[in-house]
Amino acid sequence: MPKTIIVSNRLPTKVQRTENGLTFQPSEGGLATGLGSIYRQDGNAWVGWPGLFLEDAAEEDFIAEALRTDSMAPVFLTEAEIQEYYEGFSNSTLWPTFHYFPQFATYEPAHWAAYVAVNEKFCRAVLALAGPEDTIWVHDYQLLLLPALLRRERPGCTIGFFLHIPFPSYELLRVLPWRAELLHGLLGADLIGFHTFGYMRHFLSAVSHLLGLPTQNGLIETPTRTVLVDAFPMGIDYERYAEAAASDAARAHERTYRQALGTGRVVLSIDRLDYTKGIAQRLLAFGQLLGRYPEWVGQVSLLMVVVPSRDQVPQYAALKQEIDELVGRLNAQYRTIDWNPIHYFYRSFPPDELAALYRLAEVALVTPMRDGMNLVAKEFVASKADGRGVLILSERAGAARELSDALVINPTDINGLAEALHQALVMPADEQAQRLDTMRALVKRYNVFSWAKLFMNQLAYSKMKQHTLA
Ligand code: UDP
Repeated sequence: MPKTIIVSNRLPTKVQRTENGLTFQPSEGGLATGLGSIYRQDGNAWVGWPGLFLEDAAEEDFIAEALRTDSMAPVFLTEAEIQEYYEGFSNSTLWPTFHYFPQFATYEPAHWAAYVAVNEKFCRAVLALAGPEDTIWVHDYQLLLLPALLRRERPGCTIGFFLHIPFPSYELLRVLPWRAELLHGLLGADLIGFHTFGYMRHFLSAVSHLLGLPTQNGLIETPTRTVLVDAFPMGIDYERYAEAAASDAARAHERTYRQALGTGRVVLSIDRLDYTKGIAQRLLAFGQLLGRYPEWVGQVSLLMVVVPSRDQVPQYAALKQEIDELVGRLNAQYRTIDWNPIHYFYRSFPPDELAALYRLAEVALVTPMRDGMNLVAKEFVASKADGRGVLILSERAGAARELSDALVINPTDINGLAEALHQALVMPADEQAQRLDTMRALVKRYNVFSWAKLFMNQLAYSKMKQHTLA
């Protein structure tokens, strides 16, 4: 019976070295949840990096064996590989380019060489498990070359690829010295999935401009095969967020926060530290709101969670400093003895506290400059069972294609953002409920499980089509 193998840079379990030996920490992430029922089925597997560097050969066997019992197969990477393939090519070349920040991109041949070598390493790890007719689903920008590498060795396999970040306009992609190799890498797949039709169109345009291949109705004709391209907006585990928000633990945390904040109204902002998230612009807009509408001074606070991320990288360190300074300046300018305009947390929160924050907030301010999807927007919607709350959402987040009942804004337009904040704060209750109801129904229906199922069904269909064409 054919197997299904999931491949991503990270495994859905993090292995860590502690004083008490090695620990295995399952991931809480959406992808791990959505694909859990697939990779844990008989014979199936998930291939990826377990998150730590080996210290001796005995560790390798021990970790591999422990992971195997939970349907996982590790790809061990060295510190140099992580430095050059992950921090280097993936996060310093592809990430800025695909998010429209080419000024932050580096073009290091050594990083590219490591990217090729690590994709080949992943290929070998998958080949060790994959039979000739198996299904392989590859994830994300760290593994763009893997579909073609696998296709060469296993021509009969069904190969899917999903990109979790935006696919940029051809004009951005063409800047990369290795653009053609990257596209050829992806075209080893039978099905290539993106979050939105916009990303999909950019990909088709890049393929026709840069490779000269004919594309029609989401189909690409390569000299040997047909590749299907489609949009699959990823969802969340709706029930999990709805239940967490309704739980006693979340209610208890909310009461504690409420006591501390008094009657003040709360605008919530949650992101990883990243220049793509528009955090500084959001702070400026909040400052403008207070300047332009003094009635909100003393009444509304911004509760801002920034989860530490990549802060060894110079651009991230600079952004951190910019945020620290802006928060300090605005708090100094507007605070009163018993009120703080901005409550800023540079750390992550456990799930039940996060659920309490979603409950507490009247407005969620989600304003990335670019974001493949943005799950925080969907989690906020899922947490609002009482129909009270307003989502302000950037038009450049993938989620805006679905959540059109949010107040959709341009995140560079600070003026417009301040106005949207005011509009959210004065929005009548029935309008809040109406908008939230529509969005909640959508987030509930198109959840992470239906996303995985739809992709897998379409993947099986793309293979069937391949057979008919052959
Ligand atoms: N998140 C978390 N702990 C926190 C803050 C955020 O686990 O303290 C989660 C949040 O619930 C969401 C994810 O981090 O699921 C962020 O995903 P998103 O798509 O919004 O952005 P990304 O970080 O993937 O670019």
